[in-house]
Amino acid sequence: MQIDIITIFPELIEGCFNHSIVNRAKNKNLVKINLINLKDYALTKYKSLDDYAFGGGAGMVMSIEPIFNCINDLKLKCAYDEIIYMSPDGELLDQKMSNNFSSINNMILLCGHYKGIDERIRTHLITKEISIGDYVLSGGELAAAVFTDSIVRLIPGVLGDETSALSDSFQNDLISPPVFTRPREFNGWKVPDILLSGNEKEIVKWKLDQSISRTKKRRPKLLDNE
Ligand code: SAH
Repeated sequence: MQIDIITIFPELIEGCFNHSIVNRAKNKNLVKINLINLKDYALTKYKSLDDYAFGGGAGMVMSIEPIFNCINDLKLKCAYDEIIYMSPDGELLDQKMSNNFSSINNMILLCGHYKGIDERIRTHLITKEISIGDYVLSGGELAAAVFTDSIVRLIPGVLGDETSALSDSFQNDLISPPVFTRPREFNGWKVPDILLSGNEKEIVKWKLDQSISRTKKRRPKLLDNE
């Protein structure tokens, strides 16, 4: 998989991809993440990338031309499956979307700033718009990093234990059961007896019961999907 992230602040998220599971995926050559600095495509000697909004109103708007030139340049080297704009009014990211996107080969993630990007980019160049939640961030970088992390960990071969992503919350519309590790007792707080019983069948049943009751309590809407 190749993920090309267009941003005016590459430093903001560089570190997100140099640790833990995403870094492991990079080292195994299962993903290539490129940060493309949009400032390299600024047109004037003042390096301007934004301008006042037509019709007035507070806030600057990111201009078409630098983004257009940048995307065109990238397209010369790669045939993209998706050109995605991170946007608060885009499709809300959930686990099903992450599952689907984890099998895509190449994508661009465009990060906006200020009041957003000129609408004509969205109309003519963007193939998908994704939001990471109903709140407004200062820029698309953190959203792009969240989205990237959520899909890279699902690429086959990235996680050591292949089954561990499948037993995470939201897979099968259920929330994960609680987990415990040593010591068996700390401060008088005990691990549930069943997990120490060695009775595999009962443990599986307990975990499923816990998942269902947690889902009912914390995300009841997931159970409507069945
Ligand atoms: N004026 C816009 C918000 C712009 S926020 C509006 O009201 O809709 C600046 C940039 O941050 C956006 O261009 C987008 O790329 C990014 N962004 C902000 N919130 C986001 C979210 N919830 N999900 C994904 N990207 C977001």
